[in-house]
Amino acid sequence: MKQPDAAVTSARVLIVDDEQIQLESLKKMVALSGYQVEAAASGMDAIDFLKNDTFDVMLLDLKMPDMSGYNIIDFVKENEIEVKIIVVSGESNFDAVTTALRLGAYDFIRKPYVADELLSTMKNAAHKKQLEVANSKIRQKLEESEYLHRFIVANSPDVVFMLNTDGRFTFLNDTIYSLLGYDKNELIGEHYSVIVADGSSDQARYVFMERRSDDRKSRHVELKFKCKDQAEYRYFDTSSMSVEMMDSKDANSDARVKGTYGVARDITERKQAEELIKFQAYHDLLTRLPNRTLLEDRLSLAIMQASRNKQKLAVMFLDLDRFKWVNDTLGHTIGDRLLQAVGQRLENCLRKGDTLARFGGDEFALVLPQIQNQNDAVIIAEKILNELKEPFDVDDHELYVTSSIGIAIYPEAGETMDALIRSADLAMYYIKERSKNGYQFFDEQISALTNSRLTLERELRKAMTDGQLRVCYQPQVKAETEEIVGFEALVRWQHPEKGVIFPGDFIQLAEETGLILPLGKQVLETACADLSQWRSEGLGDIRISINFSAVQVDQDDFIENIVAVLEKYKIPASCLEVEITENVIMRDMAHVIQKLRRLTQLGIKIAIDDFGTGYSSLSYLQQFPISTLKIDRSFVSSIHVSEGGTSIVDAIVAMAKGLKLNMIAEGVENLAQLEYLKELGCHEMQGYLFGRAESAETTKKLLMAGLGHTASIA
Ligand code: C2E
Ligand code: MG
Ligand code: MG
Repeated sequence: MKQPDAAVTSARVLIVDDEQIQLESLKKMVALSGYQVEAAASGMDAIDFLKNDTFDVMLLDLKMPDMSGYNIIDFVKENEIEVKIIVVSGESNFDAVTTALRLGAYDFIRKPYVADELLSTMKNAAHKKQLEVANSKIRQKLEESEYLHRFIVANSPDVVFMLNTDGRFTFLNDTIYSLLGYDKNELIGEHYSVIVADGSSDQARYVFMERRSDDRKSRHVELKFKCKDQAEYRYFDTSSMSVEMMDSKDANSDARVKGTYGVARDITERKQAEELIKFQAYHDLLTRLPNRTLLEDRLSLAIMQASRNKQKLAVMFLDLDRFKWVNDTLGHTIGDRLLQAVGQRLENCLRKGDTLARFGGDEFALVLPQIQNQNDAVIIAEKILNELKEPFDVDDHELYVTSSIGIAIYPEAGETMDALIRSADLAMYYIKERSKNGYQFFDEQISALTNSRLTLERELRKAMTDGQLRVCYQPQVKAETEEIVGFEALVRWQHPEKGVIFPGDFIQLAEETGLILPLGKQVLETACADLSQWRSEGLGDIRISINFSAVQVDQDDFIENIVAVLEKYKIPASCLEVEITENVIMRDMAHVIQKLRRLTQLGIKIAIDDFGTGYSSLSYLQQFPISTLKIDRSFVSSIHVSEGGTSIVDAIVAMAKGLKLNMIAEGVENLAQLEYLKELGCHEMQGYLFGRAESAETTKKLLMAGLGHTASIA
């Protein structure tokens, strides 16, 4: 026997016939062929089966006592039951056949049937049924997958588009609306260039129109698209590929191309962040001017150009005079606004192609490429000074600003970027120290000065390590008795070739280079060591005054250092007097006042040195815990009793007395000065009249003699 095929064995057959014998024999035959068979002996039975079960094929008798086969066909149709109906009937008229087929029967077989014919018809029907089921499953799957794809495209956060070969939109998802504000329907049929921003057209052509079919067919480019109504733009990372019909026989690839498919991802936020970072890297955020990095970039370019074309260029360094005062007294907010306003005014003075940068603090720098001669730079420098003349109105403060400008011309003042910047900087310092509010070209004189400074700096470093620094002591005496009450420690530099160098010639350099810190430590250490020696030899309970520069006071460990040295040499705090100038206090009042309070709490005395030469007033100093005022030498030397015009000293002494401050007059050189000051009520003096600054040894002898002197009086 032939092996029944799968279509047969899996097929279910319902046989409907009211004639029992017929029904049985059919059932046997069909079952024998391998089908799964059910038999219904009436129309009602058949309906029951159809309601509760599924069948692939139904063999249906037309004439039955309870209902006709047509009724069953109708039932099948109405209930959309998927079953292939083969009518098996004794009806021989044509009408019966056509009616059955019209109603939807699959085939008609006349009784008495030929078994083979019936079986082969059945087999075909079962086949067809199964094919239809398979098809509908595939269709369903396709529908699901298409739905899914549509869903993905429609809900994509990216713009998805298709273009035809002319570059016109044939498809867009709704994302275009949320990102650019276009309704997708208004763009369908439009050329893509409608949405491409001006700067992006070339790249856009590359993405949208070039066709390739090899590995490189997908394209990837950043594009700028226009938003619909505003002049706004958004950035997109756009990738696209040409769409080809796979089954096209056409060998010409161009003809196969049906258009372009693409996806555009909005990267506006990332771009903006990148732009901001780039801006921050090259600009000063306060004034929004280029920063040092950008200026150096431009300068090195300008130098290259100037060198190639044998041209000149200028670098200017500009520093605001006394800006620190604004910052310290009016606060940083006002200081910042002033800097912004200054930046704006400076920009007004520039030519096209010039670069103005803020270097930090109150320093600005300019690069002026392509100048003919010095005079071009002079014109701009004068314009700047002039522009800054008008007062600035910041927060109801009328602020006057002047500036010092240093100018370096390429190639005379330097051929490299670093050399030019340094020269301009040096020229700026030169004018700032002398006159302020003006400009200065870097020239031979400044160059020589710098060289000598550099030499001095190198030598000073060496002096400190080689022990060339000495501390000398100048006595401070009670006017009445000329009894020594203390000494001021003054540093001297014993230069191996130049002899003794006085502090006036190197302290400022030490301050500018930071060398004052190790220098100050050496002086403090030496002075305390000497004092401790004298004390141990019973030479009296004398005071030592030590000078401290602003840079030292600024240090966080300023106080700790002093305390440590005092402890090391077992010197009571009351024996130390710290001398600072008024300018130290004025630099950063809030900070300094705290430090001074701590010193006072420790028992250390504070003296204001060179009083009267700085900016402060006596009433101002009231807030500070000061014990002593040192009246500057210049006022003392102006005392000429015969002329009687000594009002400044008179006023200082009167006010200091009012504030109950101790006073020392500096630089007392003659008896007339001594008498006058005594008369006024200033009881302590320091000056050549009583002694110059001497070495520790000489000072010790002096002390011993002094003891003897007092002893002899006693
Ligand atoms: P200063 O603190 O005002 O010191 C007084 C200066 O006047 C000393 O000059 C002293 O020698 C000089 N002098 C004293 N009596 C007379 C006099 O009768 N007539 C004249 N014409 N001058 C007199 P010196 O030693 O050259 O010191 C200059 C300045 O250098 C000092 O002024 C002080 O500010 C600074 N200095 C000295 N040593 C140090 C130090 O160790 N550290 C710091 N930071 N500064 C120091
Ligand atoms: Mg002093
Ligand atoms: Mg002084």
